[in-house]
Amino acid sequence: MNVVLYGSVIIKTMKRTILISLFLLFSAVAFAQNDSYPADYAKSPRFKALIYYTTNAETDHVLFAEKAVEYFKRLTYGDGFYLDVTTEFKYTLEQLMEYDILIMLNASPVGEMRPVFEKYMENGGGWLGFHSSGYNDRSTNWPWYNDFLGVSYFLCNNWPAQSALLCIENPNHEITKNIPSEFVSAPTEFYQFEPNPKMKQHLEVLVSLSQKNYPIGIKDVVKWGEWPVVWTNTKYRMIYFNMGHSEESFMSETQNLLMLNCFRWVLSQDKKGDPFKKQ
Ligand code: ZN
Repeated sequence: MNVVLYGSVIIKTMKRTILISLFLLFSAVAFAQNDSYPADYAKSPRFKALIYYTTNAETDHVLFAEKAVEYFKRLTYGDGFYLDVTTEFKYTLEQLMEYDILIMLNASPVGEMRPVFEKYMENGGGWLGFHSSGYNDRSTNWPWYNDFLGVSYFLCNNWPAQSALLCIENPNHEITKNIPSEFVSAPTEFYQFEPNPKMKQHLEVLVSLSQKNYPIGIKDVVKWGEWPVVWTNTKYRMIYFNMGHSEESFMSETQNLLMLNCFRWVLSQDKKGDPFKKQ
C-alpha cells in the first residue's frame, strides 16, 4: 500500500469514527430528553401500607390472613413501599394518617378504634377490606360502618367454600379494564348482604357473582339474589373485596390480578397524588 492510499484509509476511518461518535452523542442527548421512556424506576419506597388482621378468628380466616401477608410482603421486594403488619389495631389518628392504605384482612376496628378509623377515612385515608373484615350483622352496632360499606347486615352465604363464576359490572373502570368479562374465582365463602349494594347511589359495584351459579353451595345452598362481590363507596377511597376466606384464596391468577388492581387503584386515588405516576 502506498502512502497516499494509506492516508486515504486513515481519513475514511476517522470520518466514520467521528460520525459514529456524533450519532451516539445525539442519541444519548435525545434519550435523556425523551419523556416517553416506557418505565419509571422508583429510587425509594413510594407509599406506606398497614395490614391488620386478627388471630382471634375462625381458622380459615387466619390462614387467609397469613397467606395474604406473604403475598403483600412479596410486593414490597425492591423497596417499592413500606409495609407494616399488626394483629393489634391500636393507633392514634396521627399514626394512622402516616399510612396511605390500610389493608384489613379478616377483621374491622372495635371499641375506641372505631372513631379513629372513621376520622382516618373521612380525612382521605385509603382502605382495602377483604371478606370477613366486612362482616356485620344486627349485633355489630356501628351505623357509620354500615354506611361506609353501604350494607346494613350480613344476609347469607354459600357453604362450603367453593369457586364461582364472577362477572364484571363495569369493564371501563381502572380496576376491571384488564379482567375478562367473566372468570372463575378461587375457592371462597361469599357473603351476601342486605340491602343489595347496587341499591345505594353512592356505591359503585364492579364485580358480581354470576346468576349462572345458582343454586350455589353443598351444605348451605343459596338459590337466588343479586350478589355484588367487589364495590367501592364513592364517598371514600375504599374497596370492599368479598373474596378471601381461606389459604386457597390465591389460586386464581385472574382474581389475584383483580386484587392487585384494587390495591393500586385505592393508592392511585390519594389526594396527595398517584404514587405510580412520576411526580
Ligand atoms: Zn369466611
